Amino acid sequence: CQMNAADSEVVLSIMQKEGFVYTENIERADVILVNTCSIRDNAEQRIWGRLKEFVRYKKANRALIVGIIGCMAERLKDSIIENHNLVDVVAGPDAYRDLPALVRQTESGGKGINTMLSREETYAEISPVRLDKNGVSAFVSIMRGCNNMCSYCVVPYTRGGERSRDPQTIVREVRELFDAGYREVTLLGQNVNSYKWDCEGGAVDFPALIRMVAETSPLLRVRFATSHPKDMCDRLLETMASMPNICRCIHLPAQSGSTRMLSLMNRRYTREWYLDRIAAIRRYMPDCSITTDLIAGFCTETEQDHEDTLSLMREVGYDGAYMFKYSERPNTKAARHMEDDVPEEVKTARLTQIIELQNSLSERSNRADVGREFEILIEGESKRSSGQLFGRTSQNKVVIIDRGQHSVGDYVRVKITDCTSATLLGESV
Ligand code: SAH
Ligand code: SF4
Repeated sequence: CQMNAADSEVVLSIMQKEGFVYTENIERADVILVNTCSIRDNAEQRIWGRLKEFVRYKKANRALIVGIIGCMAERLKDSIIENHNLVDVVAGPDAYRDLPALVRQTESGGKGINTMLSREETYAEISPVRLDKNGVSAFVSIMRGCNNMCSYCVVPYTRGGERSRDPQTIVREVRELFDAGYREVTLLGQNVNSYKWDCEGGAVDFPALIRMVAETSPLLRVRFATSHPKDMCDRLLETMASMPNICRCIHLPAQSGSTRMLSLMNRRYTREWYLDRIAAIRRYMPDCSITTDLIAGFCTETEQDHEDTLSLMREVGYDGAYMFKYSERPNTKAARHMEDDVPEEVKTARLTQIIELQNSLSERSNRADVGREFEILIEGESKRSSGQLFGRTSQNKVVIIDRGQHSVGDYVRVKITDCTSATLLGESV
């Protein structure tokens, strides 16, 4: 996930300060740290698969140290080391400052474990070492953890309680990025709408923070993820509408279109509330794209609940969506008190229907852009041809154009000439 990508950059910064050197060549590594996700079971299964591959490197280099960091480390703690003699270091999301010491500890044959969660850690003053090398867009973490306790979700357990990062350190990091040539930042948190920093002269909330960040330069694009529908307030929409460099794109995870399901999920909004927020977004920014997350087959979901999700999708007309089958996570409220009673084949069938509907909505959304003009920020060379570049619209859609005289980091005004379900084709105007 984006959060882990941002965390890996913090980890790299911490390790480099202690003299460790980053390599892209895994065969040459003396330390391998695997940042992990626990959000769904298949994410964890992929990590176990990955670990098996490392046996080979360990055979080739007896001194190799393998560490598991992040959510899975937090969830499974010492049992990872007990069950996998391959693993030497286990560090949870709030223990990254301790990583150099944990690694050194294993050099003398021991194991290094720290899965303490913190109420304060935000890695505020650490400047992440950027791993994604386009040099144009970067993630900036503004808060950590989550207090929302959605009944299906493991995040509050693996990443701990919610805490916001000092706004001065955020603004400083963004300014440094801009000065280094970056032109887009994505502010990250599990629920950015509840960002809050108390200080003399009043609190800084998310609308205030995003304004501070956007004021860095009109040439800097600002995005954010994720916002929770229950906290999506008009003040944020007003702020966005008043600043053209805050991108016209909101990711607003619905999870389900059925109020009954939303209540079981402990999302703390209804279908009607959600649709009212969508109407508010459209009122403030008619050109704003809206994307979402959806879960198929949560406990007790009926055919009618599923239909409610499909009808919500049609009603909103999402521009994009991340769609998942419900995956029971140990120790969550749902795992403890509800039965995972929707059969696997039903979950699969419902997910397939959701995906098919979204494909047609995405295609319709792209078709509607043909003939329109947008300003895109060029991010890199197109995968298909070195004669083409790709960039994104403010709405976060990918546009392919001929290279011409343009280069990475440029803003280019384009007219959309054609599209597929995944991308737009354009020409500069
Ligand atoms: N904090 C964000 C999302 C974090 S997790 C929010 O609340 O919107 C990203 C997405 O993973 C969630 O929106 C949800 O759709 C999905 N997800 C989380 N737990 C899941 C589970 N147990 N099974 C299936 N999908 C899950
Ligand atoms: Fe999980 Fe809900 Fe927090 Fe998102 S808001 S991280 S889904 S508990």
